[in-house]
Amino acid sequence: MKQLELLYEGKSKQIYKTESNSHVIVRFKDDATAFYNIKRAKIENKGRITADISSMVLEYLNNNDVSTHFVERVGDDGQLCRVVDHVDVEVIVRNVIAGSMAKRLGIDEGIVPENTIFDLCLRNSELGDPLINDHHAVALGIVSYEELGEIYAAAAHINNLLTELYAKAGITLVDFKIEFGRAADGSLVLADELSPDTCRLWDTATGERMDKDRFRRDLGRVRETYEEVAQRLHNALK
Ligand code: UDP
Repeated sequence: MKQLELLYEGKSKQIYKTESNSHVIVRFKDDATAFYNIKRAKIENKGRITADISSMVLEYLNNNDVSTHFVERVGDDGQLCRVVDHVDVEVIVRNVIAGSMAKRLGIDEGIVPENTIFDLCLRNSELGDPLINDHHAVALGIVSYEELGEIYAAAAHINNLLTELYAKAGITLVDFKIEFGRAADGSLVLADELSPDTCRLWDTATGERMDKDRFRRDLGRVRETYEEVAQRLHNALK
């Protein structure tokens, strides 16, 4: 499908109009940003690698009965996606304690809880995407309780599928963030990237971090590690 004018440019992606009103082309940029754009860098080929990883993962989810906005890969760094009406919450799924949860509750990273943890956050970067609860989301008119039930069920299913896929790649899926949208018929679809920028991925054998924490925490070898994730996923999906 032909790429037309730029509709929107964000920190890490550009969205282009296409000949179809119901589809857009999403292009992944080489920019890495963290802490709400306070830390920034360009990482050569990052757009191509994150597009590659996100496309593999979304295609795998589509093939496993998860409804996503992803249609197909476009060129090196792009994806053809369905247009959806974004739902203004972020769902964070945690299998291992890390990041903001460890900090907020004063517990060590690496603890494996018996249950899976689901955080709900308001999608509002000016407010720092604050942690909210179901009642807040309903009171704000973002979702109904019924839709929240569907969102948590989808998040749990996606977590099972991704944990299994990453395990085949020798990687522990520590946590990840997802967002949803409503398709033209009102149904909820996963409408987000799924890459090392939005997931915590730890090498199961060595514990080495294979995600955006390499950039956030100045651990180095960001591009090389993202490439390794892509390669391992390619092999796991063979
Ligand atoms: N995450 C994300 N976008 C956000 C917030 C979090 O992709 O706006 C991802 C993050 O990369 C990690 C998971 O969600 O994989 C949990 O993030 P956390 O709440 O620990 O926040 P962080 O300390 O990473 O900002």
